[in-house]
Parts: sequence; C-alpha cells; structure tokens
Amino acid sequence: MNGLLRRQKETSIQKCMSEIRTEIKQLGEFGLIDRIQQQFTLTNATSRTGIGDDAAVIDAGDDCLLVSTDMLVEGVHFDLAYTPIQHLGYKAVAVNVSDIAAMNGKTEQITVSLALSNRFSIEAVDALYAGIRSACENYKVDLVGGDTTSSSSGLVISVTALGRAKREQIAYRNGAKPNDIICVTGDLGAALVGLQVLEREKEVFLANPDMQPDLEKYQYLVGRQLKPEARTDIVFDLAEAGVKPSAMIDISDGLASELLHIAKNSQVGIRIYEDKVPIDHSTYETAIEFKLDPITCALNGGEDYEMLFTISKSDQEKIKNHPDIHFIGYVHERKSENVLITKAGTPVPLRAQGWDHFKA
Ligand code: ADP
Ligand code: MG
Repeated sequence: MNGLLRRQKETSIQKCMSEIRTEIKQLGEFGLIDRIQQQFTLTNATSRTGIGDDAAVIDAGDDCLLVSTDMLVEGVHFDLAYTPIQHLGYKAVAVNVSDIAAMNGKTEQITVSLALSNRFSIEAVDALYAGIRSACENYKVDLVGGDTTSSSSGLVISVTALGRAKREQIAYRNGAKPNDIICVTGDLGAALVGLQVLEREKEVFLANPDMQPDLEKYQYLVGRQLKPEARTDIVFDLAEAGVKPSAMIDISDGLASELLHIAKNSQVGIRIYEDKVPIDHSTYETAIEFKLDPITCALNGGEDYEMLFTISKSDQEKIKNHPDIHFIGYVHERKSENVLITKAGTPVPLRAQGWDHFKA
C-alpha cells in the first residue's frame, strides 16, 4: 500500500474508532473472549464445542477431533536475551499439546506459523525448528504445515494442535459436580519463580556484561520456565487407572484462574486447602529470597502446564497412590463461593490474579 493510501486508511479507522472507544483492559482478556463468543453461534452439526474450553471439539466419525491454537509473541511471552531459541520451539509445541491433553486427548498433528523480522538468520530458524522437532519426537506428533511471513519487529510463533479422543472420554471444563475431588499434578509456582531468576540475571548482566550468571542453584526453576512439558503422561495414567476426570484444564494462567474457569463453567463452588497445594522446596525458598509469598506464586504464577482436574469421590481410591497427583480440595454446590482455606484455617476468597493480557 502506498503512503497516501495508508494515511487515508488510518484516518478512516481513527474516525470510526473515535465515535466510541472502550479500552480493552476494561473487559480484560477473558471478558473480551466472552464478548467474541457471544457474537457467534455454531451452525455445522459437526461443531460440538467452540470457544470456551482448552480445545474445540469436532465430530469425526467415532472419535472427535480436538483443535487448539496458542501464540507466543516476542516481548510478551518470551525474551530472547535469556531464552534459547531451541527451547522456545519446544515450548511453543508443548503448550499446545498441553491444551489437547487437558481435553483428555492425544495430539497427532501440529501446524506452525511464523512471523520473522530480519534480525533472525537461517541458523536461528534452524535452531527454532530443532526444538520443534524435538517436541514432535517426544510427543509423537507430526508437523503438517504452517505459514511464514515477515514481521516489522520481533518474532511471533503460532502453533495449532490437532488431536483426537473418543467422544465419551473427552473432559470439558463444565463437568465438575458437587462432592468431586479436586486434583492437581506436579508442583506449582516454579515457572513464575524461574522467570524472576532469569529477569534478575538479565539485569545483573546488563549492568555488568563481564558477570556470568550462576544459574546452577536455580536449575529446576529456570527449566520449568524455559522448557515446560505437557502432562501427556497423566492422560495415559488416568486411562490406565480407569478414571475419567469430570472436568479438566491445564494450568497456563495460574491455579486460581483455572479453578475459577472450572467453577464458572460447571456452575459449582470450589474449596481448596493451602497446605495441600504442592510447592517444590526450591520454589518455596527462592520465592522467599525474592520476597514473594510462595502460596501466591503457586496460586497465580501460571505457565506451569500442570493438569487440574476433578474426579468423582468413587474414583479417588484408583489414583490415591499416584506419586504426582495431589488432592487439594473439593467441589460444592454453592456457586461463586470459591475459597482457599489457609494454613490457619481461615477461608479467603479465591481471586484470579494470574496472567491476563489486558489487565494492569
Ligand atoms: P488456554 O489458556 O487454554 O489456551 P484461552 O484462555 O487462550 O485458553 O482461550 C479460551 C477459549 O477462547 C478457547 O476456546 C480459545 O479457542 C478461545 N479464544 C481465545 N481467543 C480467541 C479469539 N480471538 N477468537 C476466538 N476464540 C478465541
Ligand atoms: Mg488451556
């Protein structure tokens, strides 16, 4: 587009926008998604579930096709000052595989779309794809397409994952029932604390480029931030144990935020116990070092990509000895009464203070 045309277009967009202007932060990310969702209805019989879960669900014969897409933007989701580009490729795949796992499904294919500025060399793209390949091998996924374009600044990676599940095995966010047990895998808050470590080391390096970062002590935390894994093993273990979660979601925005998604979609209330929330000792100690409250990191940190799910009480016995599944609370029927019981026994309302792209 030539300069004059572009200026005319910009002026007409400004005119149109100046009549009424509401800041996106007034709605926040989830409010904006709700607003978009309300403007569309599903018309094809094969479209089972659209906007609103970890993945869309599409009828495909006996099975269902699961579709999820996630975008990583330089300067928003990652900083190449401390993110090895190979790890970034791995993470871009893992976070999408995680969304399909959160539907109790298995990812089979991905597409990868890239916007690249001229800062990036062929070698950098090769390294990115080495990470993507490594994730494809690990999760047994095929890369089947994508799109490549230039960008005026920075790197954007958008991955779409295509997965499959038996219709009756799919776990939605809206299936939690009163008296169900709330389960979480692994440990929480490590990815956020790992990010604090990386940000601090970056500051130290910028102030004195001769200083080499000493990350040895923080290896686990930094690894959780830079190279998260999708918990596909949990989908497998639950199937082996004969347990179908009544609701499931992966923890990308923080435990509190994801619990509230399950509570809202399932029209139930949630009660969890502070002393049951799994926090690794290195997360705990390093959070204190950074003057952060460990439980706040675990509740609101995000990017842990652990699984949060509910099961009926009768299934608890089947997974009670699983070393990586923790029972943190239960579901009740009082809608909007979502609370954390502190170690002192005090109930405090659960609030989503995790990652929202448009809130301050
Ligand atoms: P997750 O954290 O599991 O990746 P998101 O919070 O990103 O989920 O998205 C929640 C739901 O909203 C998903 O069903 C997703 O496909 C949908 N969604 C997000 N952004 C948009 C958009 N711009 N247009 C349509 N649907 C969207
Ligand atoms: Mg998700």
